[in-house]
Amino acid sequence: MALKSKCPACGSTNVRVENPRDYYYNHCGLTGVHLLGMGVAITDCAACKQKTTTILQEAQLLQVLGMAIVTGKPGLTGEQLRYLRKLFEMTQGELADSLGKGRRETVAEWEAMGRKRLFKTPYEEIGLRAVLMSLFAARVLESEFNCLSSQHKAEYANAAGTFVERVSTLLAGRGTNKSIEIRRQSRRADWSATHCSAC
Ligand SMILES: [Zn+2]
Repeated sequence: MALKSKCPACGSTNVRVENPRDYYYNHCGLTGVHLLGMGVAITDCAACKQKTTTILQEAQLLQVLGMAIVTGKPGLTGEQLRYLRKLFEMTQGELADSLGKGRRETVAEWEAMGRKRLFKTPYEEIGLRAVLMSLFAARVLESEFNCLSSQHKAEYANAAGTFVERVSTLLAGRGTNKSIEIRRQSRRADWSATHCSAC
């Protein structure tokens, strides 16, 4: 191990650290999120016998995940919408207002769809997608809580700038965003989304 590892519970350095190859990150409120690479450390302490799971730079990870959803494939689900709303720190009523839907219930109904996709066709979600992208810029990228790097920002600007061109891809897209892979190349690196090329 290049970095000195400590037990988060007792501080002992008598620990064994393991980086799981594929960590299923379900406690973020989304299903189908896999963390790959060096971003998760499981510390097994010989002194206090505790096993602790640490997610490195979790605040950034949550924002990268949001970015992967707003710039990702068609087939937004209820839980993805809820995830984004919470990331934007908005109430259902506030999101409904931003979407030009006066009714908070519309957002509540969408969120209640859980793992189901909100719309049958990609065409129907373009308007919602455009609003979510602008909210992501305003409430994450330009906020004081932004944890994304200049590289992330460049990727986002590219995705937003080519949104109109990407609409045709979105319309042609047959896959869904069911599985999201987020990778960290080293313990010092940033998180990055790796969209599965197979789906
Ligand atoms: Zn310990």
